[in-house]
Amino acid sequence: MTTMTSTESPPSTPTILGTYKRAPMTFVRGEGVELIDADGKRYLDLASGISVNALGYGDAGIKQAMLTALDTGLVHVSNLYRTEPGEELSQLITRDSFAKSVFFCNSGAEANEGAFKFARRWGRATGSDAKTGILALRGSFHGRLFASLAATDRPSYRAPFRPLAGGISICERDLHVLDAALDGEMIAALIVEPVQGEGGVRVLEKEFVRELRRITAERGIALIFDEIQCGLGRLGTFFAHQSFGVTPDIVTLAKPLAGGLPMGAVLVSEEIAATIKPGDHGTTFGGGPLVATVALEVVRRIADPSLLAAVRENGEWFGETLRGIGKRTGKVRAIRGMGYMWGMDVVEKASDVIERGWEAGVLIISAGDHTLRLLPPLVMTREDLARGAVLLERILN
Ligand code: PLP
Repeated sequence: MTTMTSTESPPSTPTILGTYKRAPMTFVRGEGVELIDADGKRYLDLASGISVNALGYGDAGIKQAMLTALDTGLVHVSNLYRTEPGEELSQLITRDSFAKSVFFCNSGAEANEGAFKFARRWGRATGSDAKTGILALRGSFHGRLFASLAATDRPSYRAPFRPLAGGISICERDLHVLDAALDGEMIAALIVEPVQGEGGVRVLEKEFVRELRRITAERGIALIFDEIQCGLGRLGTFFAHQSFGVTPDIVTLAKPLAGGLPMGAVLVSEEIAATIKPGDHGTTFGGGPLVATVALEVVRRIADPSLLAAVRENGEWFGETLRGIGKRTGKVRAIRGMGYMWGMDVVEKASDVIERGWEAGVLIISAGDHTLRLLPPLVMTREDLARGAVLLERILN
């Protein structure tokens, strides 16, 4: 193995394992809602690093939180000990919520895997050894580890890695089918993304979600909301379930939680928390003092009612603007979304539009072959959203 000193440029042959098809530019800076590449070109960010950078780039509060954490000398102490940031974050995040406790981890998939374990533990404790099943919905994405992948409805992601974790199945998004499948003797949990992100930005009908809550509550089945992509302010409410008027039993969070540092969380109700004992689950890094200090800053800022109101109002305006673009260009088949989470089904390949976006200086991502996905930073102003809309219309034409 050869070593590289800091003055040498990176090797030209990529050595990062090819699990992603990367864009050609290399980003070297971020400022506000823009990224800047090695040639100095600016890109307006309508993707937020896939729903992560809610506060944009170079945020002074995040920087200060990191410096404050580093000043203590504590980046990590392990979950064998308490730290103030972890304790404070757990209080803050559960304070105005349905949840009694929270488990901190390091990613979205890990949060969902934890949620499945907690739901099964509770299912066994309150039901029987048979109450272990987990159902997910058609169109869902819950992660790429073996149990979260088993709950992810993407045949091409799943097929090469079978066998996946057992006892987890995908069910149609149909109340009759679900009604038959949700057997309280066998099923511990139903996991739902209230707005399916990777699956095409599909906003589940409020009535449908409320019916799922009614059925699962009646039959003693835990309702898990995966709010990893659509939660933490993206729909204009702090938690996504607040936009649907239902209270779940477990909520999973990740992406924006620690301002771009890896962090996930599983929020659990008092009844489920009561069945969890030391040793039931664990993770070395979860909720460490550095990430928790940054997450405290992010959570406080996202919980600000004026930020949430701006996401609701600007989001509605953005949706109308996108509909106008659809009508004028004739290149859009459907538009779905709410808050700062929008999907546009386009006639041509989404990847072609996205590549023209790179040339035009705007970052957009996809959610399927023909769906553009727009996830602007939550701090994006209406003026910048309008700038993004102009660029989008130009590249669609
Ligand atoms: N759940 C949802 C709804 C997601 O959108 C994602 C990631 O895109 C995940 C889970 C997995 O998160 P991670 O990539 O952090 O494992």
